[in-house]
Formats: sequence, C-alpha cells, structure tokens
Amino acid sequence: MKNPKTLVRRTPWPETASRPVGTPLQPSVVYASESPDALDAQYEGRTRGYSYAREGHPNADVLAQKIDALEGAEGGIVLGSGMAAVTAALMGVLKSGDHVVGGDQLYGRSLRLLTQDLPRFGVTTGFAPVTDAARFAAALRPTTRMILLEVVSNPTLRVADIEGIARLARERGILLVVDNTFTTPRAIRPFEHGADIVLHSVTKLLAGHSDATLGYVAAQDPALRQKIRDFAVTTGLTPSPFDCWLAERGLYSFELRYDRAEATAAKLADALAGLDGVARVLYPGRTDHPDHMRAEILLGSRCGNMVTFELDGGREAANAFVRAAGDIPFAPTLGDIGTTISHPATSSHRALSPEARAALGITEGTFRISVGVEPAEVLIDEIATAVQATL
Ligand SMILES: *Cc1c(COP(=O)(O)O)cnc(C)c1O
Repeated sequence: MKNPKTLVRRTPWPETASRPVGTPLQPSVVYASESPDALDAQYEGRTRGYSYAREGHPNADVLAQKIDALEGAEGGIVLGSGMAAVTAALMGVLKSGDHVVGGDQLYGRSLRLLTQDLPRFGVTTGFAPVTDAARFAAALRPTTRMILLEVVSNPTLRVADIEGIARLARERGILLVVDNTFTTPRAIRPFEHGADIVLHSVTKLLAGHSDATLGYVAAQDPALRQKIRDFAVTTGLTPSPFDCWLAERGLYSFELRYDRAEATAAKLADALAGLDGVARVLYPGRTDHPDHMRAEILLGSRCGNMVTFELDGGREAANAFVRAAGDIPFAPTLGDIGTTISHPATSSHRALSPEARAALGITEGTFRISVGVEPAEVLIDEIATAVQATL
C-alpha cells in the first residue's frame, strides 16, 4: 500500500512498537473481514470481531466493561441514552398482557414510558411508593412481571425499601429492575440486593462532564441479557463511539468526583439547615430525613451528592435565589463535575398539578442541588449568599 492507486483506498495505520496510553477512538461504522470463512467464524462465535457499529463497537465495549466492574455485573451494554437503557430493559423483556409496577417518584420520562407508551403495546402499569413494601405488594397483580424503581428518588431523596421489595419480587417471580443513576455503584450495587436488571443514565455522574448522553443496562440472567441486547440492536439504541470515549475518560475520575461531591453535599445540607429563609432541608444523611434509618442501613455513609431544600418564600424567593446564585448553572440535570441547581416545579415536575406536586412534597420554594467538586467553602458561601438574597 506504499503508493495506493487511488486515494479512495484507506491507508493502513502506521506500524508502531509502542502502544497509546489513552484509549483509542474508533468511529468506524463497518469492519472488513478477511474472507467469507472468516466472517462465518465470527458470526458463529469461534472468533471475536466487530461487523457493524449498530451491533457493537470497541468504545462501547471498553466503557461497558468498566461499568460492569463497578456494578459487579457481566455482559452489560452501553446505549445511546439513559432512556434507551430504560426502554431496552422494559420493552426488550415485556410482552403484551404483562403488568409493571413502578416507583411513584420515577424519573419523568420513565413515568411517561410506563403511563403513555407501554399501554399502547398492551402492557399495563401501576405505581406504588418505594418506601413501603406493603403498598408495593398491594399494587402487584397475577400478571405483574416487572418492578422498576430508583434507590433514591428525585427530588425528595426518599430511599427505597429495596430489601423488602426485592423479597416480594423473589417470592412472586417478578423481575426487579433498578435505575441506579442517582446512587451509583459507589453507594449501592443493586445486584447484591436482589436486582435482576440494573441500569444507568451514564450521562449523569458516571460520565460526569455534561458532554455525553449515554445509558447502560446489565442483566443477571444471560437469556435476559440477550433479549435486551437484541432489542437494542434492532431498534438502534446504539451509542456514539465519541460519546463512549468521552464517558470512559470521565470514569477515570468518577470515584474521586463522587467522594468529594458527597462530602460537600453533607456539609452543605447542614449549612442550609441553619440558614434563615430555609424552611427545610432533605438529605438522607441527616437525622431529620424521613428515611434516615434506612439510608444508614442500605447506603452506610454514602448518601450521595444531591441536596434538596425548600425556601420560605415561594416563587418570588425562588427567582431571587437563582438570580443571586448566578455563577452556578440553573439547569435541569445532575451529576456534572460542577454544582447545578434545579427547580422541580418548573422542570422535572412541571407536568404535575400543584396539588400532585404538594403530595410529593414539592413546592415553589423547592430546589434540588446536584453538588459538584468545587471546594465546600466556596459552594456553601455562594449558596448562603443566594439564600440571603431571598429574605
Ligand atoms: C437522567 C435520568 C434518566 C434518563 O437518562 P438520559 O441519559 O437523560 O436519557 C433516567 N433515570 C434517571 C434517574 C435519570 O436521572
């Protein structure tokens, strides 16, 4: 290939006796094989190789293996978004006639998938509070095939009775699916608590830099794993190699980021609780959180990087707070390397009526802070100054 006859032929990669330290980025959509025999060998599993990027590519596999190691999983796959992971876990497994019970404070789009989309395919759904296994039991039907829950809910940070619900699921032969986005494997590894399927929005804490949209899903049972994978490949839930590359790079610092943000979150929660203008603070690590005992047992000291609090003054105070906290992005996400502030009443929970929000404990004064890695003193000072501006 010294002098190719046409520029259209690809030039081979230069020979090198050394290896790159950084993970290579491979954007190729297709992979060429040596011969039809070689392709047969690959499709029949005698050799390993890639063929077409929708079916898998190296950057997705490198990332999936890393998250597998964190979760204590095997054969997990990376998909194009957290919602792609939720969709694959549910639609790849359920069939018409099945019933699903979700936690009543699921992520907004997961709720929507359960209430609006699955019923169009003959899957019926119900909801129950995740803090109460008895009420979960009451929501089950003979056709219930799956339970979907998040360990810590948004934005009130309620902690699921995952042990009680996992016991129910086991007794009734129901699959337990856990969305571990908020908690991450740093706080809990749901497979060790009876989950059958674990999924993530990798977009959030795992990737950690708000520059890649990705999901992850892993199943304990190899047959389920295959179903989910086939559904994802057929429906094209494939991730971009570049996003996978970014997320894998983000993971190098995940544990450092998480630990730092979590330590700051605990300090911020205590600082907020002492401020005039703050009606209440919700942080599972505080003894005044309704699920503090369960958080201690389930998560130990790993109560996460999210802090929710309520301002005394309603919408007016909310506007004043966000304006005064100018340097901290007011943005509907979480898990970024830097702190972000969200206002559930106008973002994640805007579709609910004020009454429905009130039932969940969300008012016009409720804010959820996703704490980042900036120094605790800097952040606490910024937030306290912004709270002061609401008085
Ligand atoms: C963000 C999020 C999702 C959806 O993830 P995307 O990557 O935005 O599709 C699902 N579950 C939880 C708990 C989330 O926070």
